[in-house]
Amino acid sequence: MSVLQAKELTVAFNGVKVLSDLNLMIPSGRITALVGGNGSGKTTLLRVLGRLLKPTHGSALLDAKEISHLSSKELARSLGILPQTPVAPEGLTVRELVTQGRYPYQSWYQQWSKEDEHMVEKALTTTHLLDLADRQLDSLSGGQRQRAWIAMVLAQDTPTLLLDEPTTYLDLAHQVEILDLLDELNATQGRTIVMVLHDLNQACRYAHNIIVLQAGQIMSIGKPDEIITEELVRQAFAVECQIIPDPLTGTPLCLPIRRKTQVAAHAPLT
Ligand code: ADP
Repeated sequence: MSVLQAKELTVAFNGVKVLSDLNLMIPSGRITALVGGNGSGKTTLLRVLGRLLKPTHGSALLDAKEISHLSSKELARSLGILPQTPVAPEGLTVRELVTQGRYPYQSWYQQWSKEDEHMVEKALTTTHLLDLADRQLDSLSGGQRQRAWIAMVLAQDTPTLLLDEPTTYLDLAHQVEILDLLDELNATQGRTIVMVLHDLNQACRYAHNIIVLQAGQIMSIGKPDEIITEELVRQAFAVECQIIPDPLTGTPLCLPIRRKTQVAAHAPLT
């Protein structure tokens, strides 16, 4: 089981720190949600964990190995990444995109196999895209396109999935469908899932572990019912709220009341 870790991780852009000395371990076989206000560093952290971005200082480790030392195929067989606004070449069809997910399994001696074919069909079926498989991505709605990207990551068949706001562009039914799918992949196949989520209540329902970021630092980390409090929401999101147990799941349910009236200025990170 792969273990993903950040060690003394700092990221600065033009000398301004946006992640500051983070140490954390992503529990394997569990669902972890990254939450926090806009600009708190969620996307940056996910990008560093997926090696899309090099840290200024410190490192991301996979099974105690620096991810910067892994070959790109080794990495792609371990981590599937769905960035926030993925870009595909013009004219690409859904099936062609999903096929790209099998790239880490190809080599000069291992050509396209039945297993590759099977994984592509399975990913298209799971995301309900079989009927759209031959359509060009740019002809799809935002939600359909998002599902196509998720299908590509699923075809990659990695033990760990990193997803930046996987429910963006999706209507409520498709949001629930994708989150249920990720939940099932975790429950039945033990996949480790790390996702940035905007909706705190969805995070509380679906994640076993929540990492709350604020101004590039970890404000809190732990199980939803242990860490999500009215005080935490006030500090992390500048919102006054009431937390009640979710009548369906018993997990914390945040009822926003109003924006916090006096928003304290964030101390600049140095
Ligand atoms: P979040 O995902 O929590 O909204 P981000 O990780 O996207 O936050 O951004 C954290 C901070 O880093 C923001 O202030 C953002 O403007 C800044 N930032 C992110 N990427 C870059 C970049 N490539 N260049 C400069 N600043 C960046």
